[in-house]
Amino acid sequence: MKAIIYCRVSTKEQAENGFSLQSQETECIKFAVQNGYEVTKIFIERGESAKTQDRTQLTKMIEYAVKNQKKIKALIIWKFDRLARNLSDQTALVKNFSNLKIRTLSVTEDNNDNATGNLMRNIIGSFAQFENDLKSERTIEGMKQATKEGYWCFPAPVGYKMVKQESGRSLLEPTEDSDYITQAFNLAEKGIYKQTEIVQKLKAKGFKKIKSSNHLRRILRNPLYAGLLKVSWFDEYHDGNHPALVSKAVFHKVQSILDGKCTNGVPHNKQNPDFPLTGILRCAKCESKFKGYWAKGRNKKYPYYECRQKECKNLTGRELVEEQFIMLLQKLEPEEDILQLFEKVLLDVWHSQKKNDNDEKSRLEREIKQLEEKQNRIEELVINRTFDNVTYQKRKQKIIEDIMIKEMRINELSTENNDVSGMIKYCKDFMSNLSKLWINAGIDLKQRLQKLIFPEGILFDGKKVRTTVTNIIFGCLHNINTPKDNLVSRRGVEPLLQE
Ligand SMILES: [Zn+2]
Repeated sequence: MKAIIYCRVSTKEQAENGFSLQSQETECIKFAVQNGYEVTKIFIERGESAKTQDRTQLTKMIEYAVKNQKKIKALIIWKFDRLARNLSDQTALVKNFSNLKIRTLSVTEDNNDNATGNLMRNIIGSFAQFENDLKSERTIEGMKQATKEGYWCFPAPVGYKMVKQESGRSLLEPTEDSDYITQAFNLAEKGIYKQTEIVQKLKAKGFKKIKSSNHLRRILRNPLYAGLLKVSWFDEYHDGNHPALVSKAVFHKVQSILDGKCTNGVPHNKQNPDFPLTGILRCAKCESKFKGYWAKGRNKKYPYYECRQKECKNLTGRELVEEQFIMLLQKLEPEEDILQLFEKVLLDVWHSQKKNDNDEKSRLEREIKQLEEKQNRIEELVINRTFDNVTYQKRKQKIIEDIMIKEMRINELSTENNDVSGMIKYCKDFMSNLSKLWINAGIDLKQRLQKLIFPEGILFDGKKVRTTVTNIIFGCLHNINTPKDNLVSRRGVEPLLQE
């Protein structure tokens, strides 16, 4: 794991404690080593200003992080306030790094708190996304079912229109243009006309909707006209309930002509639903990805996962690999008592966050009140002619701006509190049913779920699956498992390094 370090020392520290940049840097490096990070670059801010725009190294560090975001896993700092003096800038920076998948780790502060805070955001983000996917998969499931039953669920192509039947379902029916479609296929089937010629002929016959030879090709490639339903989810065609405009024989012949050879013209499916673990499963020996394939037996075909590096000879029956994978998921499903603890910790964090927010809110409200009083006072000063009009306008403008900024922050604080118990319940359900969710999901969702839980993939050595990195959520659950660790800071009280 690679990390970068950012150091900055405030003048006050330097003056009072003699704490130098050098010792800050050494401590950061030590922390990196202890936590298994390899430091690729160190950024040292020598200026004293804490203003973001004056800090060239910060800018350079951010540029470097963006450029190398795939490699870097952590940004190590002495204290969170090294990043920015005020909390909201700090949070914004930490959040930006976390968007780059870079964790910000403080040497002197408790990173668990920070991690739990991140956890909340992470959960809300990734699970909300997951729920959306779930919804859209349900829709897709419905559409798949309809397709299997012979109904087309997309807009009608030229030559057809959607007509609602008495049953309440919609069915394709031919329009006045349907005859041109039949003619297009008949012309193409002869195999003697260029596509531009066919377009010209059809136009001459009065087919106004045909645009170009590209358009013609799309028409000729569309199996709907042969009464067939073909969508990317299925390898095979399904018979539609709607009337065909050409025979299947003519359609297939035209496909062969378009291909320039006789193939069935079925496009290859990228995500093979037979082998959901391809893409995430890698070989423990050579780190190559696995592919899935059907091996021919005497009477039957057998599904296998195999390392792409043929020399590796790392191949295993699908059943064993997936069984192992499901077991891994089951291991990640937390026990009930841990879930309860998890809920407690989250609620704790949330309540203390909320308390902080409320404190900040009342402070801001007090400050606004003071500003308003000040505004009244300077109005009096104008009346007493202590201030001229220009000075008055200037000061008034400044106060109005200050009030506005504070009001915006109050607004922000009020909208951040959402339905936390609902969210936690959803997370608990989700986490305790990982394996079931995976088993019952379709191919798209399976792969999304895999990526969510194992962002860096899983390794298979021929017998067992293993993983080094799980989603931060599961990492945190592991921490909660040993609550003592949360109470003591990572490195104890004593400074690790004396100079
Ligand atoms: Zn291999």
